[in-house]
Amino acid sequence: MTMSSKTLCPYCGVGCGLEVLPAAKPKVQDGDEEWVVRGDRAHPSSQGMVCVKGATIAESLDKNRLLYPMMRDRLDQPFQQVTWDQALDRITQQIQSTLITQGPEAICMYGSGQLQTEDYYTAQKLLKGCLGTNNFDANSRLCMSSAVAAYIQSFGSDGPPCCYADLEITDCAFLIGTNTADCHPIVYNRFRKYHRKKKGKVKLIVVDPRRTKTAQDADLHLAIRPGTDITLLNGIAHILLGKRWIDAAFIDECTSGFTDYAQILGDYPPEHVAKVCGITVADLKEAARCWGLSKRVLSLWSMGINQSSEGTAKARTLINLHLITGQIGKPGAGPFSLTGQPNAMGGREAGGLSHILPGYRLVKNPDHRHTVEVAWDLPAGSINPMPGLAAWDMIVGLEQGQVGVFWIAATNPAVSMPDIERTKAALRASPFTVYQDAYYPTETADYAHVLLPAAQWGEKTGIMTNSERTVTLCPAFRPAPGEARADWEIFAAVGQRLGFKTQFAWHNSAAVYDEFVRLTQGQPCDMTGLSHDRLAAGPIQWPCPQQETEATAANKYDKRLYTDFIFATANGRANFAAFHEKGLAEPPDPNYPFVLTTGRLYGHWHTQTRTGRIEKIRNLHPEPFLEVHPIDAQHLEVQSGNWVEVRSRRGFVRLRIKVTQYIRKGVLFIPMHWGALWADQAECNALTHSEGCPISLQPELKACAVQVIPIKSPLPQPAQPHRQAVPTPIGLT
Ligand code: SF4
Repeated sequence: MTMSSKTLCPYCGVGCGLEVLPAAKPKVQDGDEEWVVRGDRAHPSSQGMVCVKGATIAESLDKNRLLYPMMRDRLDQPFQQVTWDQALDRITQQIQSTLITQGPEAICMYGSGQLQTEDYYTAQKLLKGCLGTNNFDANSRLCMSSAVAAYIQSFGSDGPPCCYADLEITDCAFLIGTNTADCHPIVYNRFRKYHRKKKGKVKLIVVDPRRTKTAQDADLHLAIRPGTDITLLNGIAHILLGKRWIDAAFIDECTSGFTDYAQILGDYPPEHVAKVCGITVADLKEAARCWGLSKRVLSLWSMGINQSSEGTAKARTLINLHLITGQIGKPGAGPFSLTGQPNAMGGREAGGLSHILPGYRLVKNPDHRHTVEVAWDLPAGSINPMPGLAAWDMIVGLEQGQVGVFWIAATNPAVSMPDIERTKAALRASPFTVYQDAYYPTETADYAHVLLPAAQWGEKTGIMTNSERTVTLCPAFRPAPGEARADWEIFAAVGQRLGFKTQFAWHNSAAVYDEFVRLTQGQPCDMTGLSHDRLAAGPIQWPCPQQETEATAANKYDKRLYTDFIFATANGRANFAAFHEKGLAEPPDPNYPFVLTTGRLYGHWHTQTRTGRIEKIRNLHPEPFLEVHPIDAQHLEVQSGNWVEVRSRRGFVRLRIKVTQYIRKGVLFIPMHWGALWADQAECNALTHSEGCPISLQPELKACAVQVIPIKSPLPQPAQPHRQAVPTPIGLT
């Protein structure tokens, strides 16, 4: 029996510590588990707690793994097993020929917050440095890029300023656009315990059109109309200003732009705001009272704010409330975005979006480009000064024939992108798609010319950063199956074949990480004090400079940003933003009278690539559904269990309905997890549209207009995933 390994859960951005031990009973047949996983009590973020996803992760490790590289010339051909040399040569040739015929802008990579920091960093060096294209984007664009843009514009830098310890110190938690209980369960557990203990003394305000599990615990639930968040937040600020429940000294000494902001607040009297949002004036005033009179106010948000055509404006308007009340930079207070993916934060640090570079740098900034080019030993001008294509722009680029190489790693865009039929048509049009993943089949594999088997969690050693900036080493504790390789090794192998021998001469991921942290020196996310060796002793929160200050040396975690009230802007002041609401990009109308909203369930993760293969979770959430308010159900003449067809301007789905009081009248909900592999005609993104925030370029996956048609003949949903019907090519388990 070998020792246990301490690592991080590879599902969500909460970033719970896990301890992995060999199973007492050795594996004798398929279905027996080799590993036992439990919460790591010593991990500061989760303190031993895990949700069902983390607890069952080991069950997915050996199911439906892609073991060998596979290739085909056309999508209508079967895959053939090839050697790594053959696959890497083919990719290298296609990159070289595309560089000649179409230029670097025709090369795109679409990555994922499942990648470790070393994977992310190596991909940035390959794409942005060596190939001269900023066309690297990640599924984080669909998840939290509005939060990134808001932090940068309001504070001068990305980086959530709070930590999880704030959950247990605050006097008022304001949760908007986040069903934390289901989507970030361990963050929520920490707060819920404290909230119950402090009964009546600590307020929980939840803003959500659905009465989610989170909203059911709230002292005040504001079930606003979808798309009215900015009006609500400006309405709260209007009352705060009128009552003088503001921090005038903080506004005066630490912020810019207050005058313009205060001016627009005149347009938000309580009666108007309550009417637009569909709430009572009394509830609005109570929310403002909690903000104004609580000593410490913490706000949490996630996709309900970010996935919007005005996501950045929403996040900035929320941050305004912290600035007007001085609720930032102190224990129990601040604006705290919860990331979706386990290492979305690490991706941001490593430059893993099309407009950023490692160390919270921007591609548009000439000094930032210069620093990175020098570090990468590349000639001046190697990095393109313009941001590359964001996720949806890559789909449009494929449609327009502007992409010669589309490389997808650790994500499943054939389910997760908006307007999925359009996305699939674009993927079919791709002249050359590389798909690098641990699992097969996935929906996206259908569109690949080359399949590359990736080592996953527990099979490679690397780093992940969670939502509170805590950095954890995730060591390999088992060999990768078949010929699977670490993602960073695959990127580096292509870089070397392209002639960049010295740039990719690392012998292990620790060396990749060392190079990366050097690029964080002096930046807000300074991690120069971190290394694999140091993190082997336990997680550490950044900032963690090599030359530690008294404050950073004293604390390994529970650190906050901006405790000196000096922000990362040129003048050191945080910026107010004055936004009026524009509303939903596709509001309901007589033809499409309902607003559809989408979201996660407690047990499933994203497109079920892992969780769909775990029996316990499939039993927990056996099929997709549509939530409908009782009055709407009455008008439609349907009951729970009946089948309906939901149609938008782009497509349709067929689902069984659940009638529930827990959703606003006129609003519907579909969970986001079911792609074509796991259910027939139930992909919520068949309905969604691609309109995004003009600042963050994050699509409005949270809302679109739909109609509902009752259907008489129910469609049986498969009891088992469709993968059983998919022929298994050579080289797959
Ligand atoms: S809350 Fe998130 S990080 Fe924690 S165990 Fe669950 S899925 Fe994993």
